[in-house]
Amino acid sequence: MNRSPLHSDSKGVSEVSEASPRALEPPLCESSHEGARAAPGFDRAALAQLAARIRAWGRELGFGAIGISDTDLSDAEAGLAAWLEAGCHGEMDYMAKHGMKRARPAELVAGTRRVISVRMAYLPAATLASDADGKPRESLATAASNERRDASREFVGDQGDRGDQGDQGDWRARERARLDDPQAAVVSIYARGRDYHKVLRARLQQLAQRIEAEVGAYGHRVFTDSAPVLEVELAQKAGVGWRGKHTLLLQRDAGSLFFLGEIYVDLPLPVDADDPSSAAPGHAGAHCGSCTRCIDACPTGAITGPYRVDARRCISYLTIELQGSIPEDLRPLIGNRVYGCDDCQLACPWNKFAQAAPVADFDVRHGLDRATLVDLFGWSAAEFDARMQGSAIRRIGYERWSRNLAVAIGNALRAGAALPDAARAALVAALRAREHDASALVREHVRWALAARDD
Ligand code: SF4
Ligand code: SF4
Repeated sequence: MNRSPLHSDSKGVSEVSEASPRALEPPLCESSHEGARAAPGFDRAALAQLAARIRAWGRELGFGAIGISDTDLSDAEAGLAAWLEAGCHGEMDYMAKHGMKRARPAELVAGTRRVISVRMAYLPAATLASDADGKPRESLATAASNERRDASREFVGDQGDRGDQGDQGDWRARERARLDDPQAAVVSIYARGRDYHKVLRARLQQLAQRIEAEVGAYGHRVFTDSAPVLEVELAQKAGVGWRGKHTLLLQRDAGSLFFLGEIYVDLPLPVDADDPSSAAPGHAGAHCGSCTRCIDACPTGAITGPYRVDARRCISYLTIELQGSIPEDLRPLIGNRVYGCDDCQLACPWNKFAQAAPVADFDVRHGLDRATLVDLFGWSAAEFDARMQGSAIRRIGYERWSRNLAVAIGNALRAGAALPDAARAALVAALRAREHDASALVREHVRWALAARDD
């Protein structure tokens, strides 16, 4: 998945996860039909026709791009090994567990000859269509061509900091405003709706079934954000985008706010690299130019250099993957981010072209785009379970959710004059109500937050 730098894996000593974010979860999201062999009798022309149909079916299913690559990721192996060796995966042991199988699809799923990579936009349509005041944007399409031209200029030379002129009214301005509001609880955009694992898996399975209806039984396995898959590398190889300096996949017409999924197949389909019209940019950062905005914007310095993310400092890791206590030196840097982090993506000029999700599943649920810290910290465990049913957030559980909120409240209490007295009192009362929480982890973070009153 392309949801946060945690989910990218591979190059450079550092990329995290995928999200995103990259495989934060074990390979829960797989389905397979192994052992069967590709129907014989498919010649080159028939395979080319099949590839064209796969793209058409994928678009019908809501995928913004579909590409096909071979399985040779040998260029990524040294970077992956160095990243794991340096311990940049933190507690994500599943990243190391599969060793080089991550870079060798045919070792992970015997018989794999090609990988079909897809992307699906997740930015809720209502979020994209609102300005900084939450009002509908006007002339969105009209502005797009001018903005694209400006963005392209930005990367060709040393333009310095052009800021985000003309960005007022952009949905990103609203997101930034919430990051500056100490009472707001900020949940990463990808997690505000239905769990993407389920949505993507269901659609990838439909795509796999359509292929089966065409060719008969064949070997395949579907992955959605599964640990052993180097999905950014595969997607780049398949022409679905390029790796940006924040390690996520980017595309000129879509920015980076999309999920990735894959189908490993044993069919010898023509690869997109064979087709110059759809070939991927040849190297990471193909359209980043001299831009360093994502690196500069990272609140914790987790992007230690271009294409290098140290998961142990990344807020997506700290709030989602990390099981225990959040290191105290990093807590103040987390601000009011309670689940994941979008800062490096918000800073990226290409996300002016982020696309609306093609499905309603990613629409915001339970007001998670406007929730306050006091509201969310007041949820009981039963309320958390009920409201987060079907959400990716439920995976971290009530204890880590509460831990994250306590840190954000502590940071709010450090906001000084930006926090009105009544709001301060409400936040302190919320902490007091959990001072004797059943969880030692939560109690420790509540104590840390309450100490902020005296700072
Ligand atoms: S801005 Fe930094 S902390 Fe936030 S997701 Fe990106 S790399 Fe992680
Ligand atoms: S912010 Fe700039 S350097 Fe970072 S991914 Fe976007 S274009 Fe590339």
